[in-house]
Amino acid sequence: MAKVEGATLVSRSLQREGVKHIYSVPGGPIGEILASGTHYGVRPIGMRHEQACVFASIGEAYVGNTVGVSTLAGGPGVTNGVTGAHVAWDNSIPIVILGGSYPLKGHLTGTFQETDNLPMYANITKLSIKVETASRIPEYMALAFRKARSGRPGPVYVDLPSDVLSAGVEEDEVKWPTIMPTPRAGGDPALVKQAAALLMKAERPMMIVGKGVRWSEPVAELKKLVESLGMPFLPSPMGRGFIPDDHPLNMSAARSAIMRNCDVAIVVGARLNWTFDFGRSFRPDAKIIHIDIEPEEIGTNRAIEVGIVGDAKVVLQQLLAEMEGKTRGMAERAAEGPWLSALREETKKNAVVVDTVMNSDATPIHTHRILKEIRDVFPRDTIYSVDGQTTLAAGRQVLQTFTPAARLNSAQSGCMGVGVPFAIGAKLARPNVPVVSLNGDAAFGFNGMEVGTAANYKLPMVFIVNNNSGIVGSAFQSRMQVAPGFNDYISTYDPSFRYDMIGAAFGAHTEHVTQPNDIRPALLRAYDASRHGRVAFVHIVSDPKDTGTMRGAMGAGGRASALLGY
Ligand code: ADP
Repeated sequence: MAKVEGATLVSRSLQREGVKHIYSVPGGPIGEILASGTHYGVRPIGMRHEQACVFASIGEAYVGNTVGVSTLAGGPGVTNGVTGAHVAWDNSIPIVILGGSYPLKGHLTGTFQETDNLPMYANITKLSIKVETASRIPEYMALAFRKARSGRPGPVYVDLPSDVLSAGVEEDEVKWPTIMPTPRAGGDPALVKQAAALLMKAERPMMIVGKGVRWSEPVAELKKLVESLGMPFLPSPMGRGFIPDDHPLNMSAARSAIMRNCDVAIVVGARLNWTFDFGRSFRPDAKIIHIDIEPEEIGTNRAIEVGIVGDAKVVLQQLLAEMEGKTRGMAERAAEGPWLSALREETKKNAVVVDTVMNSDATPIHTHRILKEIRDVFPRDTIYSVDGQTTLAAGRQVLQTFTPAARLNSAQSGCMGVGVPFAIGAKLARPNVPVVSLNGDAAFGFNGMEVGTAANYKLPMVFIVNNNSGIVGSAFQSRMQVAPGFNDYISTYDPSFRYDMIGAAFGAHTEHVTQPNDIRPALLRAYDASRHGRVAFVHIVSDPKDTGTMRGAMGAGGRASALLGY
């Protein structure tokens, strides 16, 4: 019987899991995984830094509703991936990180790149394991993928020693586990009944939609639930688009008012963490229904009335079945009622404030104006990967998302540098959809070289840098008083820096904009270039004094998240 190498068993496992891409910076001892992968339909995407590799795998996982995979070289390659694991852990994104490592036989000898990788990943993954026997690679790989995508999704780290990867195994010693579909469990029917009763009795109901709905995508169910009750909703930063942002029941612009005044809230696939002010903005007597796949999430930070553990889609179907035939006339009555009228008024009031800055002709350019032009130029199905504090803050108010999983940012983790690599993963997941990577200049600095990756793989996408000269408008900067005689280069960069030259270095179509009325034509040309197969890069110089937040428009409830741009 023929022998097969450990690295080939990894590639064949990836093929069995349906993996299309593995993000990597080639190096020892993972070269054979990258090479053998190409024989099994797994395309290696060579990038510039392992942090970006893991971020790109997150982008692909979220946009493609799949498990993202990165393959990291030994030693620093593996340590560079830790931040990516942290971001995936914080945001419950299913990824598998394959880390090359020193040979088992070199353990405790001071061999090249001898590091103990497992503890580095242990606290920020669902599982951190080392494969010690080549013949068990398929079993470990299947476990890694099952863990990553089941229950609350998350990252898994698999350590692959060089002598395990190069070991030959007799084909008939290899056992291939059955790949199981992800089970989707429903909730306790008694609790579903209670939830339905609460919702139908509520005078001021509301729904929060979080990115946890991504994995079962209950698009029709979410829409039916809000429409049958006439219930307003509030999406989380990445929960946008599962119901289109222009739905008349979307009350994002009245975030404080809806949270402060509702009497019943149903929270679906979102946590009551800092993004939602730890649930403190709700009235103490507001009744919360929480649907989450993770039992221990129920009751975190705030007492709730009904906690339903289960998959969002299945539980929403149960809820709708329970309410079937009992909601007649409710939507019509709600449409005329005081709750929706008050929220619509609030939305209008806030829109006036945002409109002023969105249409500002000021130079230097206001960030809201940039966002408005972007919103008006790109089509409805555009995927936006947004990064950088000021840009995120304005983006939250101005950019709209109309399709599921089309809005990416660092969300819970607040990690800057995700904007470029997330977008690359998104474009590889959905090559026929326009992808815009929108970055503040400081955030762009972390992984800006990955524009070269997009160019190398001829990924026709648009990169935009909103250059407001550094980490400006930050919550910290105003408190940072440097001693007399010191300048403030810590957080401000020379305004003459030309990031578009980075695009030019990689042969991208580039635009450099300093005047508000030039933004739209530049964006149109860039979008056109991307439609003709080119990478495009738009550099827009904006006002360093602009914080991007509109505190007045958001009020106290939006405070914590407003500071970090959500
Ligand atoms: P957001 O940042 O959008 O507010 P979070 O990442 O804080 O969202 O929360 C997402 C929640 O969704 C997590 O608590 C996670 O357990 C939950 N979740 C993940 N998958 C599912 C699913 N299939 N059904 C229901 N809840 C889910």
